[in-house]
Amino acid sequence: MKPEYFQQAVLDWFEHQGRTDLPWQKTITAYRVWISEIMLQQTQVATVIPYFERFMDSFPTVEALANASIDDVLHHWTGLGYYARARNLHKTAQRVTFDMGQQFPDSIEQLIDLPGIGRSTAGAIRSIAFKKPAPILDGNVKRVLARFAAVEGWPGQTAVHKKLWNIAERYSPNSRTADYTQAMMDLGAILCKKTSPNCNQCPLVNDCKAFSQGNQAHYPGKKPKKILPIKSSLFVLLRNADKAILLQQNPPVGLWGGLWVPPQIEKQADLHQLCNKLGLKVTEQKLLDNRRHTFSHFHLDYQPILVDVTETPNRVAEIDNQVWYNPKNPLSLGMPAPIKALLST
Ligand code: SF4
Repeated sequence: MKPEYFQQAVLDWFEHQGRTDLPWQKTITAYRVWISEIMLQQTQVATVIPYFERFMDSFPTVEALANASIDDVLHHWTGLGYYARARNLHKTAQRVTFDMGQQFPDSIEQLIDLPGIGRSTAGAIRSIAFKKPAPILDGNVKRVLARFAAVEGWPGQTAVHKKLWNIAERYSPNSRTADYTQAMMDLGAILCKKTSPNCNQCPLVNDCKAFSQGNQAHYPGKKPKKILPIKSSLFVLLRNADKAILLQQNPPVGLWGGLWVPPQIEKQADLHQLCNKLGLKVTEQKLLDNRRHTFSHFHLDYQPILVDVTETPNRVAEIDNQVWYNPKNPLSLGMPAPIKALLST
């Protein structure tokens, strides 16, 4: 199919069926496109909308985000997962604000040089905010193109990824770049869904190879299955007389980096050592039900243990990176969703 026909078909469909009222489409700026694109990675639109709106209320400009504390940024991200994205947002906001005069660059090379911005996000910022040509290849577009051109293999493999980028480049237009980018994302989200694509409504149906093969579910190829290892841990919910729980802030890099979590121990026998170190005395303890949280590369099986404590005279009252968190009167802290859920039960 010639690129101009492909583009026309997609744009005609977009005019009647595309989404035009998403919050980040209302006032289009590079900042808003960037935030929405980062939030939308691995996350559904319906989930992202309230996060985006809260984020914009608190950080309406790149400068406001750059000047916010990382704690505040992580707090606004709590529940979206993949927290490295939030830390990179903060770093990029600081680069754009303090080194670039609050102006996002419009070239792909300069955009991908910023923390957390990959080629597809750079393409979305350039094509939507700056109205300049650039292909994108997010999860939705990968699915559309893999099916349309019957590209075999898992897109995580370099050769497959490259092939898909070549196709994305071939069909990417020089004009109406913002509409085209949004149209391709919408096509994947609305019609070319993972399961049961609505091919009868699709503007590409006459030339779609997967459709003609009747084999849409085969594309894109699945990631080779691997069995995730299981790690286990005890999460110690140290509770004081005010019913507040002790949280500690993780170091900035690593798993749940910069987020606030309860102390962890490997086995129950380590509890007294932990409490001694913290200057706390155990008055009562109770094991709660086991839970599992699955990360992209392992399962974490964790058992919460609720421990009532009193402070000993040895306790140093003000220690950095520790707070007593009262779920009834919560502080604005960045917390991983499973911990937030645990504390609210
Ligand atoms: S025809 Fe079906 S499988 Fe092909 S691109 Fe359209 S929705 Fe996807």
